Amino acid sequence: MQPRSRALSPATQVVAGGRPERLPGAPAVVPPVFSSTYVQDGAVAYGRFGNPTWAALEEVLGTLDGGTATAYGSGTAAVSAVLDRVPVGGTVVAPVGCYSGTLVGLERLHRLGRVGEVRLVDPADTAAVVAALPGADLLWVESPTNPLLAVADLPALVAAAYEVGALVAVDATFCSPLVLRPLDLGADVVVHSATKYLAGHSDALLGVAVTRSEELSAALVESRSAGGAIPGTMEAWLVLRGLRTLHLRVERSQANALELARRLEGHPALERVRYPGLASDPGHARATEQLAGYGSIVCLDVRGGAEPAERLVAGCRLWLPATSLGGVESTLERRRRHAAESADVPEGLVRLSVGVEDVEDLWADLSDALDAR
Ligand SMILES: *Cc1c(COP(=O)(O)O)cnc(C)c1O
Repeated sequence: MQPRSRALSPATQVVAGGRPERLPGAPAVVPPVFSSTYVQDGAVAYGRFGNPTWAALEEVLGTLDGGTATAYGSGTAAVSAVLDRVPVGGTVVAPVGCYSGTLVGLERLHRLGRVGEVRLVDPADTAAVVAALPGADLLWVESPTNPLLAVADLPALVAAAYEVGALVAVDATFCSPLVLRPLDLGADVVVHSATKYLAGHSDALLGVAVTRSEELSAALVESRSAGGAIPGTMEAWLVLRGLRTLHLRVERSQANALELARRLEGHPALERVRYPGLASDPGHARATEQLAGYGSIVCLDVRGGAEPAERLVAGCRLWLPATSLGGVESTLERRRRHAAESADVPEGLVRLSVGVEDVEDLWADLSDALDAR
């Protein structure tokens, strides 16, 4: 499918990848293949070990991140498969205030005695991460973090982890492979909650882990086959369908996010606007260097804490008050309403997931709610 004279850009890969072989009469699209078992002596014997719809999706996701992709039933299942690589009693260095589900998972493994030590550090503070690394088996990075939007210096962290022999895993859910390609920066494995931008329509849960190491890839598949956290056929098909417009959605939602962040900055109802695309943001220089764009998540520290923040959320008519992110529709929520959210996240922090609607409609709804608050 590649032109003779040039490699495909990611915008074309999401459209052209994962298609059936071009034979006369073949369909243009890989269908959802609903089958738990297969006629014996073929490549796959049973539905927990493989599926043609997963394979099409994994082809595209692997190409986008530049490695071999393994899909799971959720982003959390992909995270768990990577955590399987930590030796019994091993040590993990992870970002303080990263995705709460990842922290819950790490705490659980520690409680069960499976992981010996979890060291939480500010991923934007390179010296602090480097100081926590000796003796670590795995460095877990999220950049920008969910929801504090701290931006890590990935090449520096990768180099430091290499020195101590720690595996580096990056959760790049907030960016999608169009904005950040951690494997190019030296990470061993990248994880996405495909539930978010990759699927893009808030209608499916799925996760993926991508690596260039054959050994690690085999281990990731083994975790899925033996652990059972396989994606559903319909979910894999929905994510593949959603992926076809990833470049358009990312472009539009990032442009909307930047415009809204600029307008919101300095609003009297807000203490602070967090968005790496703002020149005032502490992560701006790093994000400009390491990311292709600044993502579509904007966080607002509402003046007065939890109550005015909840009133802002309740006052919106167009923005959907809901958790999750990365859908075509704009959503918002106060993060500390979740008991599992880190205490490092301010009580009044409202996370906006900016969608692809008309930016003037988004602005009108948000500024009405801010003024009425
Ligand atoms: C949502 C999310 C996850 C978990 O993904 P699920 O598909 O909900 O299991 C992991 N990491 C980040 C950064 C997320 O936003």
